[in-house]
Amino acid sequence: MRIWKGSSASPGLVLGQVSRLERHVETFSTGPFNPERELQQLEGALSTAKSELDSMAERAASTEQAIFQFQSMMLEDEGMLREIRFCIHAGVSAAAAVDKVGQRYADQLANMADNPYLQLRSVDILDATSRVINILSNRPRMWLALDHPVILAADRLMPTDLFSVPSGMILGVITAEGSGQSHAAIIARAMNIPAIVQVGRDFLEDCDGRTVILDSTKGECILDPDVATRQQAENRICELQRKNTEMNQLCALPGRTRDGQPFELLANCFGPEDIDTAMQSGARGVGLLRSSYMMLPGRILDEQEQFYFYSSCLVAAQGCPVTVRTFDFGADRTMADAYQGVQSSKLGLRGIRNSLRQPRQFETQICALLRAAARGPLRVMFPMVTDVEDWDAAMHIVERCRRSLRERGVPFNEKTQFGVMLSVPAACLTAEEFVAHGCDFLVIGTNDLTQYTHAADRELASAERYYRPASPAMKKLITMVMDAAKQGNVPVTICGLAVGNPANTVQYLQMGLRSFSVSPQNLLGAKKALLEADALPDDNKPE
Ligand code: PEP
Ligand code: MG
Repeated sequence: MRIWKGSSASPGLVLGQVSRLERHVETFSTGPFNPERELQQLEGALSTAKSELDSMAERAASTEQAIFQFQSMMLEDEGMLREIRFCIHAGVSAAAAVDKVGQRYADQLANMADNPYLQLRSVDILDATSRVINILSNRPRMWLALDHPVILAADRLMPTDLFSVPSGMILGVITAEGSGQSHAAIIARAMNIPAIVQVGRDFLEDCDGRTVILDSTKGECILDPDVATRQQAENRICELQRKNTEMNQLCALPGRTRDGQPFELLANCFGPEDIDTAMQSGARGVGLLRSSYMMLPGRILDEQEQFYFYSSCLVAAQGCPVTVRTFDFGADRTMADAYQGVQSSKLGLRGIRNSLRQPRQFETQICALLRAAARGPLRVMFPMVTDVEDWDAAMHIVERCRRSLRERGVPFNEKTQFGVMLSVPAACLTAEEFVAHGCDFLVIGTNDLTQYTHAADRELASAERYYRPASPAMKKLITMVMDAAKQGNVPVTICGLAVGNPANTVQYLQMGLRSFSVSPQNLLGAKKALLEADALPDDNKPE
């Protein structure tokens, strides 16, 4: 029995068998090979791989479908195939040629540190090419072939990893590196999958197939637990399940603090599936829909497809409001084909800055949103807005979209509400200007606002000491936003991971906030804290 310490990325307790996600190094025999025979085998393996991917896509939900289709498409890439055939003609085996070329393409993309979208594609290339290599080598196909639920161990987690196995097959995740602030970690939390990061590379050496207790709330895991420890863990899992049942009863209670102040609890979501979970946990709507994730991993949906996506989010929200954030491509976001060489690092052209550089793609999204807003209470907000010029430029495009929909005679909601997601300190300091320019609502995004206020990269574990979502500096900025909202009479919501931490939730409540948007799995904890808290300190209460 050995305890491994890491850092919590998604809370929970689970016991199971480890399955190591291998990005393995291949060894190949040196031949001699008959190029004609190798070429023939290559064609056969490519077609088997594509039909495997296509049949997976047919069975999968829409997000997973896009991944499989993308990988299948990549196996038709003429440039890559030409290089593979060239190597085979030079006397290399088909498997070695696929490995060599696939690895080179993947490395090239993986090294693009300023382009996370292409880095993401790098994993897809390796996924697809190792499928072909496995077919050529008569081996079972990679870890997607899981036949029972496991605790996944990997060097680090990409957002696609969690979408790459049938749901319910991943009990938990342990990674050697990575950060709890990454979007992959956010997805794990949204899917209620316990996860820890930063256990170190040694863990991966000999973990495959062994039993582990993953206590991600504590940020640790126990490999090969002895009988007593295992029994204890099983008891605690039962106890947690009992507590969960109790917490579920909280769902039904109206949102009122102990001293009678009403509050609104919303959820941060990615799409219809987790909106559904959030609604079951008592959310009264979606305070942040991260629309960039609809595109994962390879393609921007067209207007009609986006319209269906937003409409299905409204259906999942059962008549409650859904606040959609326009694409936040850039920084740690997947960018799909929206990425056209624009520098989109954290301090570069991400979010609305990227959208404004790509007006056609932005118009497609706005038109789809305006149309969906005719079907239910959908509002729209822009991420990474810095100043009122960004706002004006974005609203100028919105106006153009309204005109075009009118001309096309397509029904849409003329009165769709538009707001700003405040994650840049400059925008918080001038919040009243957005309101003066017609902004309908404000949303404070604590994840990025903390990062930019404290100049601490949210992905960087070593900078964690500077990442303080409830610091005096944050309080000042939040207070300024609330003052602007009050003066302009517009609603303000606060969202981000920090808001799901009960101590912070109560602090934000006592600062005057009444609308909170948290990850689905934090809803009940936050609600409990709010129900038990006093919104107004005693000396503020009316006589
Ligand atoms: C935020 O920045 O506070 C936020 C909730 O958005 P994201 O985590 O998607 O950057
Ligand atoms: Mg953000």
